[in-house]
Amino acid sequence: MATLRYLPLAQVPQWLDGLAKSYTVFAPAREGSAVVYRPRAEGSMPELTARPTESAKHVVFPRAHELFSFTYKADPAVVGKRDLTLTQPQDPTPTVVFGALSCDARGFFAFDPVYDGCGTKGLAKDVYYLKRRQNTALVVLACRTALATCFCNWTGGSPASREGADVLATLVNDGLVMEALTPKGEELVSGLAEAGAEQGAAAEASHTAAEATMAPVPGAPLDPKAIADAVLARFDDATFWQAESAGCLACGACTYLCPTCYCFNITDESNGISGVRLRSWDTCMASLFTLEASGHNPRTAKANRLKNRVGHKFSYYPSLHGGRFSCCGCGRCIKSCPSSVDIRRIVQNALAAANVKE
Ligand code: SF4
Ligand code: SF4
Repeated sequence: MATLRYLPLAQVPQWLDGLAKSYTVFAPAREGSAVVYRPRAEGSMPELTARPTESAKHVVFPRAHELFSFTYKADPAVVGKRDLTLTQPQDPTPTVVFGALSCDARGFFAFDPVYDGCGTKGLAKDVYYLKRRQNTALVVLACRTALATCFCNWTGGSPASREGADVLATLVNDGLVMEALTPKGEELVSGLAEAGAEQGAAAEASHTAAEATMAPVPGAPLDPKAIADAVLARFDDATFWQAESAGCLACGACTYLCPTCYCFNITDESNGISGVRLRSWDTCMASLFTLEASGHNPRTAKANRLKNRVGHKFSYYPSLHGGRFSCCGCGRCIKSCPSSVDIRRIVQNALAAANVKE
């Protein structure tokens, strides 16, 4: 294990101000009743007591991301001829997310294979995503309790999972015990004082206590293959999906807040002879998402859209990517759904239906 460091809470703003000389620093900040990740204001103390409403996904995968800008210029020598100039945006600056959650750090694992060409020779790599991912360090703040909506333990996670984190920070009394987990993380914390043995033990005790607040996985030990098969077995069961989606308003909040949803749309926003090409988040819960140029739309019914969302996360994605769910169990889709659609209940109902058939 790397050397544990200790950062008194009173020194957090000063430490982050120091990092801001070399990095763009995002940290959780309160905005009304929400807690969101924002570029941190100098001298400010991040919000460390309330669970962030959103994940830090947008730091690496911005909501509306300029891919390039373009300008047309008329060629005076040839009537109707216009030259096109494309300008790439600047490369992202080194960035630190302070106070990400463990589940959110694991959420990026759903993106990585997809945007890195699925590990398949010849498939395109998404340089926009990869540059930001490589340039971003995650300082994860271990959760001290689970919320009723948390189920990271279904997906291989835990409140203080180290997976995907560069530094694991644990709140202990009046400070943070900092554990560097990668060279990027070591670079961030190397200037801090070493933690005492008591502080290290208190951090471990906090992790164990947090783990104990998680609701047990129903029917443990969890069998990801059985879940994937059970969800897939409901593929042609229209009655099942109509019942599960009955209250859905198709608002898309579940996908926009989800740390593992990575769908996007591309639009050109022009103004006269110049403009920008944008990549913006999209949602498979919207009826227009699958509208084809022919006018055909294979998913006009919300039942089909919910089937796709749950099927993708718990069956299709794991079948393509080594069995890993495209869900980190953060519970945001449950907490923020205006209609109380609970993805855990849908998976459990699919499992129950599979058991009835056996
Ligand atoms: S948040 Fe709830 S109501 Fe909105 S699209 Fe998702 S499941 Fe439907
Ligand atoms: S599907 Fe829901 S619980 Fe799973 S990662 Fe997305 S928002 Fe979190």
